[in-house]
Amino acid sequence: MAQALSESELRNMVYEPDARGHFGPYGGRYVSETLMAALAELDRSYQSLKNDPAFQQEFDADLSSFVGRPSPLYHAKRWSDAIGGAQIYFKREDLNHTGAHKVNNTIGQALLAKYSGKPRVIAETGAGQHGVATATVAARLGLECVVYMGADDVERQSPNVYRMKLLGATVVPVTSGSRTLKDALSEAMRDWVTNVESTFYIIGTVAGPAPYPQIVRDFNAVVGREVRWQSQDLFGRFPDALVACVGGGSNALGLFYPFLNDTEVALIGVEAAGRGLSTTEHAAPLSVGRPGVLHGAKTYIMDNADGQISHTHSVSAGLDYPGVGPEHAFLKDIGRAQYVGATDDEALSAFHEVSEVEGIIPALETAHALAYTKTLAASMRPDQVVVCNMSGRGDKDIFTVAKLEGITL
Ligand SMILES: *Cc1c(COP(=O)(O)O)cnc(C)c1O
Repeated sequence: MAQALSESELRNMVYEPDARGHFGPYGGRYVSETLMAALAELDRSYQSLKNDPAFQQEFDADLSSFVGRPSPLYHAKRWSDAIGGAQIYFKREDLNHTGAHKVNNTIGQALLAKYSGKPRVIAETGAGQHGVATATVAARLGLECVVYMGADDVERQSPNVYRMKLLGATVVPVTSGSRTLKDALSEAMRDWVTNVESTFYIIGTVAGPAPYPQIVRDFNAVVGREVRWQSQDLFGRFPDALVACVGGGSNALGLFYPFLNDTEVALIGVEAAGRGLSTTEHAAPLSVGRPGVLHGAKTYIMDNADGQISHTHSVSAGLDYPGVGPEHAFLKDIGRAQYVGATDDEALSAFHEVSEVEGIIPALETAHALAYTKTLAASMRPDQVVVCNMSGRGDKDIFTVAKLEGITL
Protein backbone atom coordinates (compact mmCIF):
# COMPACT_ATOMS: atom_id res chain seq x y z
CA MET A 1 0.00 0.00 0.00
CA ALA A 2 1.02 3.64 -0.42
CA GLN A 3 1.42 6.17 2.44
CA ALA A 4 -1.12 8.90 3.16
CA LEU A 5 0.36 12.29 2.14
CA SER A 6 0.12 15.73 3.75
CA GLU A 7 -1.96 18.50 2.17
CA SER A 8 1.07 20.29 0.73
CA GLU A 9 2.46 17.04 -0.67
CA LEU A 10 -0.90 16.38 -2.34
CA ARG A 11 -0.95 19.88 -3.82
CA ASN A 12 2.49 19.41 -5.40
CA MET A 13 2.07 15.78 -6.42
CA VAL A 14 2.65 14.81 -10.06
CA TYR A 15 -0.13 12.42 -10.95
CA GLU A 16 1.49 10.62 -13.88
CA PRO A 17 2.43 6.94 -13.95
CA ASP A 18 6.14 6.02 -14.03
CA ALA A 19 7.76 4.59 -17.17
CA ARG A 20 6.37 1.11 -16.42
CA GLY A 21 2.86 2.41 -15.78
CA HIS A 22 2.80 2.41 -11.96
CA PHE A 23 0.70 4.73 -9.83
CA GLY A 24 2.63 4.24 -6.58
CA PRO A 25 2.55 0.46 -6.02
CA TYR A 26 -0.46 -0.03 -8.35
CA GLY A 27 -0.91 -0.53 -12.09
CA GLY A 28 1.94 -1.99 -14.13
CA ARG A 29 1.74 -4.81 -16.67
CA TYR A 30 1.01 -8.27 -15.27
CA VAL A 31 0.66 -9.96 -18.67
CA SER A 32 2.26 -12.66 -20.82
CA GLU A 33 5.41 -12.01 -22.85
CA THR A 34 3.43 -11.84 -26.12
CA LEU A 35 1.23 -9.03 -24.83
CA MET A 36 4.23 -7.09 -23.48
CA ALA A 37 5.38 -6.19 -26.99
CA ALA A 38 1.90 -5.04 -28.05
CA LEU A 39 1.54 -2.88 -24.93
CA ALA A 40 4.97 -1.33 -25.41
CA GLU A 41 4.07 -0.44 -29.01
CA LEU A 42 0.76 1.06 -27.87
CA ASP A 43 2.56 3.11 -25.23
CA ARG A 44 5.04 4.50 -27.79
CA SER A 45 2.32 5.46 -30.26
CA TYR A 46 0.13 7.01 -27.54
CA GLN A 47 2.95 9.09 -26.02
CA SER A 48 3.72 10.57 -29.44
CA LEU A 49 0.11 11.01 -30.64
CA LYS A 50 -1.16 12.66 -27.47
CA ASN A 51 0.87 15.75 -28.34
CA ASP A 52 0.20 15.59 -32.09
CA PRO A 53 -1.85 18.68 -33.08
CA ALA A 54 -3.61 16.89 -35.98
CA PHE A 55 -4.69 14.06 -33.67
CA GLN A 56 -5.90 16.44 -30.94
CA GLN A 57 -7.76 18.58 -33.45
CA GLU A 58 -9.60 15.58 -34.86
CA PHE A 59 -10.44 14.35 -31.33
CA ASP A 60 -11.80 17.78 -30.33
CA ALA A 61 -13.79 18.10 -33.55
CA ASP A 62 -15.47 14.73 -33.02
CA LEU A 63 -16.25 15.52 -29.38
CA SER A 64 -17.95 18.68 -30.53
CA SER A 65 -19.83 17.66 -33.69
CA PHE A 66 -20.38 13.92 -33.12
CA VAL A 67 -20.79 13.71 -29.31
CA GLY A 68 -22.29 17.18 -28.77
CA ARG A 69 -19.74 18.55 -26.28
CA PRO A 70 -19.43 20.54 -24.15
CA SER A 71 -22.08 18.87 -22.03
CA PRO A 72 -23.92 21.35 -19.77
CA LEU A 73 -23.29 21.90 -16.06
CA TYR A 74 -26.87 22.01 -14.77
CA HIS A 75 -28.11 23.49 -11.48
CA ALA A 76 -30.46 20.93 -9.91
CA LYS A 77 -32.22 23.68 -7.99
CA ARG A 78 -35.44 21.94 -7.01
CA TRP A 79 -33.55 18.96 -5.68
CA SER A 80 -31.04 21.21 -3.85
CA ASP A 81 -33.91 23.18 -2.25
CA ALA A 82 -35.71 19.98 -1.26
CA ILE A 83 -32.58 18.66 0.47
CA GLY A 84 -31.85 22.05 2.04
CA GLY A 85 -28.04 21.89 1.99
CA ALA A 86 -25.40 22.61 -0.66
CA GLN A 87 -26.26 23.62 -4.23
CA ILE A 88 -26.13 20.52 -6.45
CA TYR A 89 -25.00 20.68 -10.08
CA PHE A 90 -25.12 17.79 -12.57
CA LYS A 91 -22.42 17.40 -15.22
CA ARG A 92 -24.66 16.19 -18.05
CA GLU A 93 -22.73 13.31 -19.65
CA ASP A 94 -26.15 11.68 -20.13
CA LEU A 95 -26.71 14.14 -22.98
CA ASN A 96 -23.78 12.80 -25.02
CA HIS A 97 -24.44 10.83 -28.21
CA THR A 98 -25.08 7.21 -27.07
CA GLY A 99 -26.18 8.50 -23.65
CA ALA A 100 -23.11 8.23 -21.42
CA HIS A 101 -19.48 9.24 -20.89
CA LYS A 102 -18.09 6.05 -22.49
CA VAL A 103 -18.04 7.55 -26.01
CA ASN A 104 -15.38 10.12 -24.98
CA ASN A 105 -12.94 7.26 -24.58
CA THR A 106 -14.01 5.10 -27.53
CA ILE A 107 -13.64 8.06 -29.91
CA GLY A 108 -10.13 8.68 -28.62
CA GLN A 109 -9.06 5.04 -28.90
CA ALA A 110 -10.67 4.56 -32.34
CA LEU A 111 -8.66 7.58 -33.53
CA LEU A 112 -5.52 6.00 -32.07
CA ALA A 113 -6.35 2.91 -34.15
CA LYS A 114 -6.77 5.02 -37.27
CA TYR A 115 -3.53 6.98 -36.72
CA SER A 116 -1.66 3.72 -36.02
CA GLY A 117 -2.87 2.30 -39.35
CA LYS A 118 -4.99 -0.49 -37.77
CA PRO A 119 -8.17 -1.17 -39.77
CA ARG A 120 -9.78 -3.45 -37.17
CA VAL A 121 -10.90 -2.76 -33.59
CA ILE A 122 -12.04 -5.22 -30.93
CA ALA A 123 -13.66 -4.75 -27.53
CA GLU A 124 -15.04 -6.72 -24.61
CA THR A 125 -18.42 -5.84 -23.17
CA GLY A 126 -20.55 -6.90 -20.19
CA ALA A 127 -23.96 -5.25 -20.33
CA GLY A 128 -23.15 -4.04 -23.83
CA GLN A 129 -22.71 -0.30 -23.19
CA HIS A 130 -19.00 -0.26 -24.07
CA GLY A 131 -19.68 -2.55 -27.05
CA VAL A 132 -22.27 -0.12 -28.40
CA ALA A 133 -19.99 2.90 -27.83
CA THR A 134 -17.17 1.06 -29.69
CA ALA A 135 -19.41 -0.11 -32.56
CA THR A 136 -20.66 3.48 -32.90
CA VAL A 137 -17.23 5.04 -33.40
CA ALA A 138 -16.03 2.14 -35.58
CA ALA A 139 -18.95 2.86 -37.94
CA ARG A 140 -18.11 6.57 -37.84
CA LEU A 141 -14.49 5.91 -38.87
CA GLY A 142 -15.06 2.95 -41.20
CA LEU A 143 -13.20 0.43 -39.02
CA GLU A 144 -14.04 -3.28 -38.82
CA CYS A 145 -15.41 -4.03 -35.34
CA VAL A 146 -15.62 -7.29 -33.36
CA VAL A 147 -17.12 -7.31 -29.86
CA TYR A 148 -16.64 -10.21 -27.43
CA MET A 149 -19.53 -10.77 -25.05
CA GLY A 150 -20.27 -13.58 -22.57
CA ALA A 151 -22.96 -15.90 -23.94
CA ASP A 152 -25.18 -15.30 -20.89
CA ASP A 153 -24.86 -11.54 -21.37
CA VAL A 154 -25.76 -11.90 -25.07
CA GLU A 155 -29.04 -13.45 -23.95
CA ARG A 156 -29.71 -10.97 -21.14
CA GLN A 157 -28.84 -7.87 -23.16
CA SER A 158 -30.43 -8.56 -26.52
CA PRO A 159 -31.31 -4.89 -27.33
CA ASN A 160 -27.63 -3.91 -27.08
CA VAL A 161 -26.60 -6.93 -29.17
CA TYR A 162 -29.02 -5.80 -31.85
CA ARG A 163 -27.76 -2.20 -31.64
CA MET A 164 -24.19 -3.39 -32.25
CA LYS A 165 -25.36 -5.42 -35.25
CA LEU A 166 -27.25 -2.43 -36.66
CA LEU A 167 -23.99 -0.46 -36.37
CA GLY A 168 -22.22 -3.09 -38.47
CA ALA A 169 -20.27 -4.83 -35.70
CA THR A 170 -19.82 -8.60 -35.26
CA VAL A 171 -20.78 -9.82 -31.79
CA VAL A 172 -18.99 -13.01 -30.70
CA PRO A 173 -20.72 -14.89 -27.84
CA VAL A 174 -18.12 -16.37 -25.44
CA THR A 175 -19.19 -19.75 -24.07
CA SER A 176 -16.19 -20.50 -21.83
CA GLY A 177 -16.01 -20.07 -18.03
CA SER A 178 -18.80 -18.11 -16.40
CA ARG A 179 -20.01 -16.90 -19.85
CA THR A 180 -19.83 -13.24 -18.69
CA LEU A 181 -17.56 -10.16 -18.85
CA LYS A 182 -14.40 -11.71 -17.39
CA ASP A 183 -14.41 -14.48 -20.05
CA ALA A 184 -15.17 -11.97 -22.82
CA LEU A 185 -12.10 -10.04 -21.69
CA SER A 186 -9.84 -13.11 -21.87
CA GLU A 187 -11.15 -13.90 -25.35
CA ALA A 188 -10.54 -10.31 -26.56
CA MET A 189 -6.96 -10.51 -25.22
CA ARG A 190 -6.44 -13.76 -27.15
CA ASP A 191 -7.70 -12.15 -30.35
CA TRP A 192 -5.41 -9.15 -29.81
CA VAL A 193 -2.29 -11.30 -29.33
CA THR A 194 -3.09 -13.23 -32.52
CA ASN A 195 -3.96 -10.21 -34.71
CA VAL A 196 -1.87 -7.42 -33.21
CA GLU A 197 -0.56 -6.27 -36.63
CA SER A 198 -4.04 -5.31 -37.86
CA THR A 199 -5.97 -4.86 -34.64
CA PHE A 200 -6.45 -2.24 -31.93
CA TYR A 201 -7.98 -3.36 -28.61
CA ILE A 202 -10.34 -0.71 -27.19
CA ILE A 203 -10.64 -1.14 -23.39
CA GLY A 204 -13.72 0.36 -21.74
CA THR A 205 -12.51 1.76 -18.42
CA VAL A 206 -9.39 2.96 -16.55
CA ALA A 207 -8.38 -0.65 -15.73
CA GLY A 208 -6.17 -3.24 -17.47
CA PRO A 209 -2.41 -3.22 -18.06
CA ALA A 210 -0.44 0.01 -18.66
CA PRO A 211 -0.83 2.22 -20.65
CA TYR A 212 -4.63 1.69 -20.77
CA PRO A 213 -5.49 3.30 -17.40
CA GLN A 214 -3.66 6.48 -18.44
CA ILE A 215 -5.11 6.53 -21.98
CA VAL A 216 -8.72 6.08 -20.84
CA ARG A 217 -8.26 8.69 -18.08
CA ASP A 218 -6.82 11.25 -20.51
CA PHE A 219 -9.67 10.84 -23.01
CA ASN A 220 -12.32 11.20 -20.28
CA ALA A 221 -10.55 14.18 -18.65
CA VAL A 222 -12.42 16.49 -21.03
CA VAL A 223 -15.25 16.17 -18.46
CA GLY A 224 -13.24 17.72 -15.60
CA ARG A 225 -11.65 20.35 -17.86
CA GLU A 226 -15.10 21.55 -18.88
CA VAL A 227 -16.25 21.64 -15.23
CA ARG A 228 -13.28 23.93 -14.42
CA TRP A 229 -14.41 26.70 -16.77
CA GLN A 230 -18.12 26.03 -16.39
CA SER A 231 -17.96 26.40 -12.61
CA GLN A 232 -16.01 29.68 -12.97
CA ASP A 233 -18.70 30.93 -15.39
CA LEU A 234 -21.65 29.78 -13.28
CA PHE A 235 -20.58 30.51 -9.71
CA GLY A 236 -17.17 32.16 -9.92
CA ARG A 237 -15.02 29.46 -8.29
CA PHE A 238 -14.38 25.72 -8.18
CA PRO A 239 -16.93 23.36 -6.56
CA ASP A 240 -16.38 22.29 -2.94
CA ALA A 241 -16.86 18.63 -3.83
CA LEU A 242 -17.03 16.34 -6.87
CA VAL A 243 -18.97 13.08 -6.68
CA ALA A 244 -19.02 10.23 -9.23
CA CYS A 245 -19.89 6.53 -9.29
CA VAL A 246 -17.02 4.02 -9.63
CA GLY A 247 -17.25 0.78 -11.59
CA GLY A 248 -13.85 0.56 -13.26
CA GLY A 249 -13.58 4.25 -12.51
CA SER A 250 -13.42 6.09 -15.85
CA ASN A 251 -16.21 8.65 -15.38
CA ALA A 252 -14.93 9.43 -11.87
CA LEU A 253 -11.31 9.84 -12.94
CA GLY A 254 -12.33 11.91 -15.97
CA LEU A 255 -14.02 14.35 -13.59
CA PHE A 256 -11.39 14.22 -10.81
CA TYR A 257 -8.13 14.27 -12.79
CA PRO A 258 -8.05 17.99 -13.79
CA PHE A 259 -8.69 18.88 -10.09
CA LEU A 260 -6.13 16.59 -8.43
CA ASN A 261 -3.80 19.43 -7.42
CA ASP A 262 -6.70 21.65 -6.23
CA THR A 263 -6.83 20.20 -2.73
CA GLU A 264 -9.68 22.52 -1.68
CA VAL A 265 -11.93 20.42 -3.96
CA ALA A 266 -13.02 17.20 -2.22
CA LEU A 267 -13.18 14.10 -4.48
CA ILE A 268 -15.58 11.29 -3.62
CA GLY A 269 -16.06 8.04 -5.56
CA VAL A 270 -19.17 5.96 -4.89
CA GLU A 271 -18.96 2.18 -5.26
CA ALA A 272 -21.85 -0.28 -5.48
CA ALA A 273 -22.62 -1.49 -1.95
CA GLY A 274 -25.25 -3.88 -3.38
CA ARG A 275 -27.17 -5.50 -0.53
CA GLY A 276 -24.78 -3.89 1.99
CA LEU A 277 -20.99 -3.73 2.58
CA SER A 278 -21.31 -6.17 5.49
CA THR A 279 -22.78 -8.82 3.14
CA THR A 280 -20.87 -10.57 0.33
CA GLU A 281 -23.34 -9.20 -2.25
CA HIS A 282 -21.69 -6.00 -3.46
CA ALA A 283 -19.04 -4.67 -5.86
CA ALA A 284 -16.94 -2.39 -3.66
CA PRO A 285 -13.23 -3.37 -3.84
CA LEU A 286 -11.95 0.02 -2.62
CA SER A 287 -14.28 0.00 0.39
CA VAL A 288 -13.76 -3.60 1.54
CA GLY A 289 -11.32 -5.33 -0.86
CA ARG A 290 -7.54 -5.62 -0.71
CA PRO A 291 -4.59 -5.14 -3.08
CA GLY A 292 -4.09 -7.92 -5.64
CA VAL A 293 -3.72 -8.48 -9.38
CA LEU A 294 -6.64 -8.49 -11.83
CA HIS A 295 -6.75 -8.11 -15.62
CA GLY A 296 -3.10 -7.19 -15.98
CA ALA A 297 -2.76 -4.61 -13.22
CA LYS A 298 -2.18 -4.42 -9.47
CA THR A 299 -5.10 -2.72 -7.74
CA TYR A 300 -7.77 -3.25 -5.09
CA ILE A 301 -9.78 -6.39 -5.85
CA MET A 302 -12.44 -8.57 -4.26
CA ASP A 303 -11.16 -12.09 -3.61
CA ASN A 304 -11.66 -14.85 -1.07
CA ALA A 305 -9.11 -16.34 1.35
CA ASP A 306 -7.79 -18.68 -1.41
CA GLY A 307 -7.19 -15.78 -3.78
CA GLN A 308 -10.17 -16.61 -6.03
CA ILE A 309 -11.91 -13.54 -7.48
CA SER A 310 -15.23 -13.14 -5.68
CA HIS A 311 -18.66 -13.16 -7.18
CA THR A 312 -20.00 -9.57 -7.21
CA HIS A 313 -23.47 -8.10 -7.13
CA SER A 314 -24.99 -4.74 -8.03
CA VAL A 315 -28.38 -3.70 -9.35
CA SER A 316 -26.43 -1.77 -12.02
CA ALA A 317 -24.53 -3.83 -14.59
CA GLY A 318 -21.94 -1.07 -15.14
CA LEU A 319 -20.72 -1.16 -11.53
CA ASP A 320 -20.71 -4.95 -11.20
CA TYR A 321 -16.92 -5.49 -11.41
CA PRO A 322 -14.57 -7.06 -8.79
CA GLY A 323 -11.67 -4.66 -9.52
CA VAL A 324 -11.08 -0.96 -10.07
CA GLY A 325 -8.64 1.24 -11.99
CA PRO A 326 -5.18 1.33 -10.33
CA GLU A 327 -5.05 5.14 -10.12
CA HIS A 328 -8.09 5.04 -7.82
CA ALA A 329 -6.26 2.57 -5.57
CA PHE A 330 -3.40 5.07 -5.35
CA LEU A 331 -5.67 8.11 -4.76
CA LYS A 332 -7.35 6.20 -1.93
CA ASP A 333 -4.10 5.25 -0.19
CA ILE A 334 -2.52 8.72 -0.40
CA GLY A 335 -5.76 10.28 0.83
CA ARG A 336 -6.52 12.51 -2.17
CA ALA A 337 -9.88 10.87 -2.90
CA GLN A 338 -12.39 9.20 -0.62
CA TYR A 339 -14.47 6.15 -1.53
CA VAL A 340 -17.87 5.29 -0.09
CA GLY A 341 -20.67 2.86 -0.96
CA ALA A 342 -24.33 3.25 -1.91
CA THR A 343 -26.65 0.24 -1.71
CA ASP A 344 -29.08 -1.00 -4.39
CA ASP A 345 -31.97 0.41 -2.34
CA GLU A 346 -30.33 3.83 -1.85
CA ALA A 347 -29.58 4.02 -5.59
CA LEU A 348 -33.14 3.05 -6.54
CA SER A 349 -34.57 5.67 -4.22
CA ALA A 350 -32.31 8.39 -5.71
CA PHE A 351 -33.25 7.14 -9.21
CA HIS A 352 -36.93 7.86 -8.51
CA GLU A 353 -36.35 11.10 -6.63
CA VAL A 354 -34.23 12.74 -9.34
CA SER A 355 -36.60 11.52 -12.08
CA GLU A 356 -39.55 13.13 -10.30
CA VAL A 357 -37.95 16.32 -8.99
CA GLU A 358 -35.60 17.22 -11.87
CA GLY A 359 -37.15 15.59 -14.94
CA ILE A 360 -34.00 13.57 -15.61
CA ILE A 361 -34.08 9.73 -15.52
CA PRO A 362 -30.51 8.78 -14.52
CA ALA A 363 -28.65 5.55 -15.28
CA LEU A 364 -28.67 3.12 -12.33
CA GLU A 365 -24.87 3.51 -12.12
CA THR A 366 -25.28 7.28 -11.80
CA ALA A 367 -28.03 6.78 -9.20
CA HIS A 368 -25.34 5.52 -6.79
CA ALA A 369 -23.48 8.82 -7.10
CA LEU A 370 -26.76 10.69 -6.66
CA ALA A 371 -27.59 8.76 -3.49
CA TYR A 372 -24.34 9.85 -1.85
CA THR A 373 -24.63 13.38 -3.24
CA LYS A 374 -27.88 13.72 -1.31
CA THR A 375 -26.27 12.67 1.99
CA LEU A 376 -23.27 14.92 1.40
CA ALA A 377 -25.26 17.99 0.31
CA ALA A 378 -27.50 17.66 3.38
CA SER A 379 -24.42 18.02 5.60
CA MET A 380 -23.24 21.21 3.83
CA ARG A 381 -24.26 24.91 3.72
CA PRO A 382 -26.45 26.45 0.97
CA ASP A 383 -23.52 28.62 -0.21
CA GLN A 384 -21.46 25.49 -0.96
CA VAL A 385 -21.47 23.52 -4.22
CA VAL A 386 -21.41 19.81 -5.06
CA VAL A 387 -20.97 18.65 -8.67
CA CYS A 388 -22.27 15.15 -9.35
CA ASN A 389 -21.30 13.45 -12.60
CA MET A 390 -24.50 12.40 -14.41
CA SER A 391 -22.53 9.62 -16.13
CA GLY A 392 -25.45 8.33 -18.22
CA ARG A 393 -29.17 8.36 -18.92
CA GLY A 394 -31.56 5.77 -17.54
CA ASP A 395 -33.51 4.69 -20.62
CA LYS A 396 -31.55 1.42 -20.68
CA ASP A 397 -32.54 0.69 -17.06
CA ILE A 398 -36.30 1.21 -17.00
CA PHE A 399 -36.94 -2.51 -17.61
CA THR A 400 -34.74 -3.50 -14.65
CA VAL A 401 -36.44 -0.99 -12.36
CA ALA A 402 -39.94 -1.96 -13.52
CA LYS A 403 -39.20 -5.66 -12.96
CA LEU A 404 -37.87 -5.02 -9.43
CA GLU A 405 -41.14 -3.28 -8.69
CA GLY A 406 -43.21 -6.12 -10.13
CA ILE A 407 -44.33 -4.15 -13.16
CA THR A 408 -44.46 -5.87 -16.58
CA LEU A 409 -43.75 -3.50 -19.48
C1 LIG B 1 -20.19 1.94 -17.74
C2 LIG B 1 -20.85 2.97 -16.92
C3 LIG B 1 -20.36 3.35 -15.65
C4 LIG B 1 -19.21 2.65 -14.98
O1 LIG B 1 -17.98 2.77 -15.62
P1 LIG B 1 -16.79 3.68 -15.07
O2 LIG B 1 -15.62 3.26 -15.85
O3 LIG B 1 -16.65 3.42 -13.60
O4 LIG B 1 -17.17 5.09 -15.32
C5 LIG B 1 -20.99 4.38 -14.98
N1 LIG B 1 -22.07 5.01 -15.50
C6 LIG B 1 -22.58 4.68 -16.70
C7 LIG B 1 -23.77 5.41 -17.21
C8 LIG B 1 -21.98 3.65 -17.46
O5 LIG B 1 -22.51 3.32 -18.65
